[in-house]
Amino acid sequence: MASWRLARSLEVLRDEIRALHPGTTVWTIGDEAHVVSDHRPNAAGVVCAIDVLGDGGLDLARFAEVVRTSGHPAAKYVIHARRVASAAYGWTWRTYTGSNPHTTHVHVSVGVGPDGRSTGPYDDTSPWGLASTGGIEMFCKRGDKGPTVEALQRLLAVAGHPPEGGADGDYGPATSRALFAARQEVGTQATSGDEYTPAAYAQLFQLLARKQGSGKQGERGPAGPQGPAGPAGPRGERGEPGPAGPPGATPTRIAITGEVVAVDRA
Ligand SMILES: [Zn+2]
Repeated sequence: MASWRLARSLEVLRDEIRALHPGTTVWTIGDEAHVVSDHRPNAAGVVCAIDVLGDGGLDLARFAEVVRTSGHPAAKYVIHARRVASAAYGWTWRTYTGSNPHTTHVHVSVGVGPDGRSTGPYDDTSPWGLASTGGIEMFCKRGDKGPTVEALQRLLAVAGHPPEGGADGDYGPATSRALFAARQEVGTQATSGDEYTPAAYAQLFQLLARKQGSGKQGERGPAGPQGPAGPAGPRGERGEPGPAGPPGATPTRIAITGEVVAVDRA
């Protein structure tokens, strides 16, 4: 095939991936592992598959899940980690028995029909929803590095399971042990702490809520705001004597009892 182009739907997907993880390798046209595949241009010269690597920091398991649940009109199937999900089988994960286990990349095919001869809506440019988290990866797994891992480590510390080595942003065995211990404290089906999933997140918050609810009473808080004015008080005492009045015509005696009360006239 002298010239070829990538299906438009996959251009959209590739752009969404690279908006989140600019360094991600995306293979398009066929490699030796795909002799007959959608990586080969179809009759119209369109390549209807990509292979996406995690080298730019993309979480491949999460990415495969986004594709699987996207409902994208062009999506045909997705393969990752010995599993395949396809439109033809209602998008449930099934075991993939192909020679390449797809553990280090995710394969996405678009269109309709046999591999290498896809037809249908492969040029549909609807969004895939990969960017719907606003570019913030909430979840991570063993081997990951970065701020998402650091946030998890800080959360673990608050929940009473600080990973040995502190919040270094590196999801190694210490973080895995700490997450597993935290999840076990609330009861988990998980068999390791190697994946920080939505279920793990929920359990961490369950643990935090439990710890907050059973804590000691805290310090007394600051004084509250001043209340409204009270009712009027009782009548006050008499005041100081007033100034003396003008002299009378023939004053004989001025009785002073705190004020000028009378002037007796003879
Ligand atoms: Zn592939």
